[in-house]
Amino acid sequence: MTDHDAIIVGAGFGGMGAAISLKRLGFEDIVILDREDDLGGTWHVNHYPGLAVDIASVTYSYSFEPNPNWSHWFARGPELKRYAEHVADTYDLRRHMQFGVRVDGARWDEDAQHWVVSTSVGSRTATYLMTATGFLSQPRLPDIDGVQDFAGTVIHTARWDDSADLTGKRVAVIGTGATAVQLIPQIATRAAALTVYQRTPIWVTPKTDFAIPRALQLLFAAQPWTQRLARRANSAWLESIMVTGVLHYRQAKLFNQAAAAIARAHLRRQVRDPELRRKLTPDYSFGCKRPTFSNDYYPTFTQPHVSLETTPINRITESGIVTSEGKETDVDVLVLATGFNLWDSNFPAIEVIGREGRNLGKLWRESGYHAYEGVTVSGFPNFITLNSPYSYSGLSYFMTIEAQMRHLERLFGELQRRRARTFEVSERADQDFLAQMLQRMDDTVFVQGSCATARSYYYTNEGDAVLLRPTSSANARRSAESFSLEDYAYA
Ligand code: NAP
Repeated sequence: MTDHDAIIVGAGFGGMGAAISLKRLGFEDIVILDREDDLGGTWHVNHYPGLAVDIASVTYSYSFEPNPNWSHWFARGPELKRYAEHVADTYDLRRHMQFGVRVDGARWDEDAQHWVVSTSVGSRTATYLMTATGFLSQPRLPDIDGVQDFAGTVIHTARWDDSADLTGKRVAVIGTGATAVQLIPQIATRAAALTVYQRTPIWVTPKTDFAIPRALQLLFAAQPWTQRLARRANSAWLESIMVTGVLHYRQAKLFNQAAAAIARAHLRRQVRDPELRRKLTPDYSFGCKRPTFSNDYYPTFTQPHVSLETTPINRITESGIVTSEGKETDVDVLVLATGFNLWDSNFPAIEVIGREGRNLGKLWRESGYHAYEGVTVSGFPNFITLNSPYSYSGLSYFMTIEAQMRHLERLFGELQRRRARTFEVSERADQDFLAQMLQRMDDTVFVQGSCATARSYYYTNEGDAVLLRPTSSANARRSAESFSLEDYAYA
């Protein structure tokens, strides 16, 4: 006896996408488990001041569920959460969701031909297992001496404390990734003094944001093709930065240099002090690390109560931060904008044991990261892994989600056509796909550019850039619609 047709781990946009696909195929016995207390994934967990999308909302949303009512070209965090709720209601997903359930691991039972999933509330079985645990879901605390000794308030951006009042406080922010870029200007409006500790500067390009006028919202609602057109134009622009400038670096270095030039000109326009500009200018190629978009990040550092500290941190004391040059800054609130741990605890986010005791995390770490089309792994029957090596396609996560939904629908469609219950990708197809990805990777900025100083989470602990799929989003979509059905075995 098997409890469910499918268990999906994660109630964010990835998990909801997988559930929508399964429901389209007629599956109803689906359970979506999430350790949080509500749906929305990263858009439920994150609520730091300034949270917004940095990919325009016409693109950062499901193409099949456009929202004509976005308030801004770049929607704010709470709107994304509301959009997730709207999607859950529209596609009748809520009744499948169970919150506050931590999934610890899953094991393929060869005899019963199902997955045994261990959770904080007991064990469940399912014919199919899908992990949609996000790339950026395990907050990383910095390995700085003394961080546990600090006597003031410490907040990681992914565990923002809404009751913390920064007004008139001396605040330190560690980190200058995309999250810090949104948060720092907001903190600066409240804090009495703000010190930002930067280890690696980030490439920042202008953000063309505006409130969407009511007339345009009405047009998007009445004539959905107009919103589709806006989506297509915006996606094409993002694709040209990402694919041409980053992934096809060997062939189109000029595009990469143009993107870097746009960012440098943006910094020149906003910061006059040459020393400050020098500190804020990255010394690695554009795209080695995820770039971001902001109009108010650079000007924040020109305010008298804000300082940028680039000398490495030596230690944290009870009352503040000491740099390697011995400069001590007293602070009341320490904000850790130190990102997420991908490679120690997120690939995969739970322990997954496949056929003949294969441990997915061990396999990836010891014999290299791979996943056929960024979706399935040989040796792991009836398992769909949505946060996989070589799966991330394009700059908007929805490109990845929708390509994976297509793959899933094609695969399960074939399974139904054959009246089969079990699928497994062949080792040959899995390895051929990896070989293709490695070959294409040779063209990218990660191999051809100058990335040594970027400290990018795109790279594994072993130094391989395996997160992004080094093809266009169109290629990912086409492959999802046309992969050889013979690449799978069915039973
Ligand atoms: P992140 O990009 O990984 O940045 C973490 C920052 O913390 C880096 O500047 C890092 O410095 C610094 N750091 C970490 N450990 C440190 C240490 N021990 N000492 C000093 N500095 C340390 O994380 P994030 O800013 O949270 O962003 C993660 C991703 O979330 C983004 O790339 C983006 O994909 C996504 N995001 C998206 C949006 C959106 O609007 N869609 C908004 C925010 C975030 P190093 O660079 O030197 O390691």
